[in-house]
Amino acid sequence: MDYKFVYDNKEYVLTDNNCDGIFFEGENEITGLSLDIILNALNEGEEVSFSTEYYGDKCACNTQEQINKSYRYLEYHFYIYTKDNEYVIDTLCNEYRNTSFNKLFGLGKIDDSYIVSVTVCPNCGIYSIYIDQCTV
Ligand SMILES: [Zn+2]
Repeated sequence: MDYKFVYDNKEYVLTDNNCDGIFFEGENEITGLSLDIILNALNEGEEVSFSTEYYGDKCACNTQEQINKSYRYLEYHFYIYTKDNEYVIDTLCNEYRNTSFNKLFGLGKIDDSYIVSVTVCPNCGIYSIYIDQCTV
């Protein structure tokens, strides 16, 4: 599974090969969540659009210009919902269009939510995925 997007007339392709890793907040790994699920979610999403964000860490390619002690990345984020620490659904998938966090929570199908940030180096195209618990 690949995900392609264009930003500033440059094409980026997110694949297995240029992913630097999936980083969970603390040791809080989510069962059943894989890179394939994340790339598939990006493909299914109807309004995925990356935007510029700045972070203090420099990419390993060492080519980003430093701007106010930070470095430019392209980022997009969405949410995933879990039950007992296991992946259930993400907010980009087709299946989510007819439901909501509150509905699924009310039915006891999910009990927690996480923000998934996909962060791409605009120079070399290497990307990282950060997963942090968040409240909806
Ligand atoms: Zn880079």
